Order: sequence, then structure tokens, then C-alpha cells
Amino acid sequence: MRYILAIDAGTTSSRAILFDHQGEQKAVAQHEFPQYFPEESWVEHDAQEIWETQLKAIREVMATDGIEPTDIAAMGITNQRETTIVWDRATGAPVHKAIVWQDRRTASICESLSDHAATFLNKTGLVLDAYFSGTKIKWILDSDPSIRKRAEAGELAFGTVDSWLIWNLTQGKVHTTDVTNASRTLLYNIHELQWDQELLDLLDIPASLLPTVVSSSEKVGETAVDVLGTAIPISGIAGDQQAALFGQLCLAPGDVKNTYGTGCFCIMNTGEKAVESQNKMLTTIGWQRNGKTFYALEGSVFIAGALVQWLRDQLQMISSAPEIEALAKTVEHNGGVTFVPALSGLGAPYWDPEATGAIMGITRGTEKGHIARAALEAIALRSRDIIIEMQKDAGVEFSSLKVDGGATGNDLLMQIQADLLQKQVVRPNTTETTALGAAFFAGLAVGFWKDEDELKAIWKEDRVFSPQENSHNKRCLTLWEQRVPKLLS
Ligand code: ADP
Repeated sequence: MRYILAIDAGTTSSRAILFDHQGEQKAVAQHEFPQYFPEESWVEHDAQEIWETQLKAIREVMATDGIEPTDIAAMGITNQRETTIVWDRATGAPVHKAIVWQDRRTASICESLSDHAATFLNKTGLVLDAYFSGTKIKWILDSDPSIRKRAEAGELAFGTVDSWLIWNLTQGKVHTTDVTNASRTLLYNIHELQWDQELLDLLDIPASLLPTVVSSSEKVGETAVDVLGTAIPISGIAGDQQAALFGQLCLAPGDVKNTYGTGCFCIMNTGEKAVESQNKMLTTIGWQRNGKTFYALEGSVFIAGALVQWLRDQLQMISSAPEIEALAKTVEHNGGVTFVPALSGLGAPYWDPEATGAIMGITRGTEKGHIARAALEAIALRSRDIIIEMQKDAGVEFSSLKVDGGATGNDLLMQIQADLLQKQVVRPNTTETTALGAAFFAGLAVGFWKDEDELKAIWKEDRVFSPQENSHNKRCLTLWEQRVPKLLS
């Protein structure tokens, strides 16, 4: 057995990747699927399109020259989280379009349940928000009396994208999800590790809809021979951020990874203890394996790479995102400029939805380069804000930051991050840490890899950015700490 097949079911595309024993990619296939925006703030996917594009990608990598079906030891799945699908158990047909994590249509349901927000938070670690699956399920059931009737008769199934794919891969034999995906539904008690009847009652959701919950690394079934021509064990499941945490080998309490894309997604391992955040970070399950549950704190920055896009598209200061690095390098430091990236409010730890962005400290000597540099610093400073608060919540000091995502190709940004955190920033060799995490979970469950030590031995870093101390970094931080509070509404 030479490979693990990882499925990365993302928000805009379905991907399949074959990893070998060294964690190297042997083959990749990817297909995008349409996004539907039927009303303002609504975002939908067609669940059948997710399945069809995913199946196509899987078949393509399996057809790579020199690969036999018997070369594949197991399959691991990672997925866009929270996105909600309800389907008919008899026919397998979805009863409604998938409601995507970005969809805000259930904000009013959250509002109407606000008296119970503390109950949801205590049991699930989540704020009562439209982001998560629970209110999306309720919305689908309430959208049509016949759907609710069928749900109450036990005819329907709910699942996040992992469950939906496994149902289809096994031709309806397996209806399951893992703890990490369950922990994003608002229905799963992350302390007792079970679906919670009180929360189900609050949302008026019949328990018969729910999948069984398994660990992130165990065999849950096999692909149907009719589907892939062979029975491949399915033995790893995790939501995308949690899979990336494991793929980055953030295995010890305090280990933390940050993904630099449009926004930043930061997640810190807090060990076998669920830590309650004092800063409205989410408490979530990192993974469960071999009977042990690891918890995590999660926080995000809404505007990160998007700030670079804004300089490119709105100000036309650069013509491509990577150009910002050369522009920022035309100056030695930010020249006293602070860029507060509150382009859509300011999240943790400020939590000011009304805040707006600002470029402060402009003088006659200010050049484009200073603004470019201040923008990169802003991405690093917002990430720092989150990581420092997480560290306080978790009560552990982290040793280094593992990074991934599109903007990590920017060496200057990575160096700035190391300097401002005064910690090492570690960029891995692979950019596919999410899929790699799913492969690791699947491979460990079937003995393809023996243990975590074996994973550590094959995990390769591309580059480590060591912190440098200089007066510019200190000044940059001091100005940030003085100026941001002035902008809060
Ligand atoms: P997403 O998954 O959110 O679409 P990606 O991981 O693909 O994001 O990263 C794309 C984002 O990273 C964009 O916002 C882009 O502006 C930013 N980006 C890409 N390359 C660079 C770079 N070299 N320097 C700074 N930002 C970059």
C-alpha cells in the first residue's frame, strides 16, 4: 500500500490528493463548483454538484499513471465546516440546497434565541451565530411543512459535507460525522461528547436527523465498489481548520497555526482541556484519536490578504498581490505609518463591528512603500492580537507559529510576523496542510503511519523565520497600541 487518498471538500472546489509515505503529493485533481446567491446574505451550494465534482476529482487521481486501486491504503476527508445538508434517507436526494457557512439568513433565529446564548456557549463552546449549522437545519425544516413532517417521521438525514460525501461514497450505508464537525453544529455538547437534547429542543430539531459521531481517526466504513470500483477504507475525518492544525503537527498544548488567506484563521491546541475564552474566541474540538480528545481555541481576522487586494484593486498601488513585497522593501521601515485594517469592523479582541479602517501617521515624506509596509504589518499585528489573547486564555506560552495559506509566500510578511511576536515562524514544505492532516488521520488509523513520532520524522519545513529585535518593530507595536483604541466607536 503506497498512498493515502485525501479529500479536501472546500467552499469553492472539490479536491483529491494522493500522499505517499513521506507525506509528498503524488497526484492532485480539483474541480470548482458553482456558488449560488439567491438573496442578499444567502449563500448556497448544490449538494449534488459537490458530490459530482468530488467524485470526478477522486476518479482522476485514481487514474494517475502507475496507480492501482490496491495502492490506496485509506481515504481521509476534510471539509468546509458548518455547511448544512438535509437529504432523504430512502432516495439520497437533498430536500433543499446546502446552506453554506457564510449564509446569514438565520440571524433572526439567533436573535430570537438570545436568552439561551449562555446555554449554547457553555455546552458547545460557540457563540449563538448564524455561522453554525444548528439554525440552518431549523431554517430548512421550517421552510416547508412537508419537510418538517418527513423529518419527524425519521425519513430525513442531516449532515455537514463530510457526512454527505461519506453517505454517497458508501451508497447510504454509513451516516456519520466526526467530533470536529459535530462541534460546529451548535447541537453537540463538547464536554459530554454527545448530541445535546436540550439544544435540539431549543432549535426544534428531531434527533433522528443526526449522524452518529466518531473520532477523527478510525475506520468508519468502505467506499462502495459500485462507486469507485474498489473498497477503500474511510478512516479519517476532520473539519478544515482542525485538519490543518493536525497537518501542521500542532500536537502539544500551546501549539498554534495561522492560515493567511483572505482573512486569517488561527487555531491553538489547548490539550485535553476545553478552555473557556475570556475574549470571545471559540472553544472547539481539535481532534479525537485513540480515545483522547484534544480541544482548541479558534479566532479569526476578517481582513488579511483582503487588505492587499484592496491596495491592488481599489488603489491600484500594485498590479498583483505578491508585488506588495517588493514595494514594501523599497523602504526600511514604516516611516511612522500605521494601517488599521478595520475594513469590515474589528473582531477579537476589540469586537467593534462599527470600526472603520484608517491610515495614520502620514507626513509629507510618506511614500507608497511605507503604506505597503504598514499594510503587511497590519496583517501581522491583527494576527498577533489574536495569538496573544489565545495564549492568555490557554495559560500556556507558545513556542513557535506554524503558518500556511496564500500570503505565506511573502517572506517579508513572515519575517515581520516573527519580529512582532518575538517567536519563530515556521513555514512547511507543503502548502496542503489541510489535506495532509486528513491523510495523517486516515493513515494512522490503518497503520500506514505507526504513530505521531513517525509523522514528525517526515514533516518538512520550508523555512524558519527567526525573530529579530530592532527599534522599528518596537515602534511599530507602540504606535499600534496607541492608535487602534482611538478608532474604536
Ligand atoms: P483564500 O483561501 O482565502 O482564497 P488564499 O490562501 O488563496 O486565500 O490566499 C489568497 C490571499 O492572499 C489573497 O487575499 C491575496 O491578496 C493574498 N496574497 C497572495 N499572495 C500574497 C503575497 N505574496 N503577499 C501578500 N498577500 C498575498
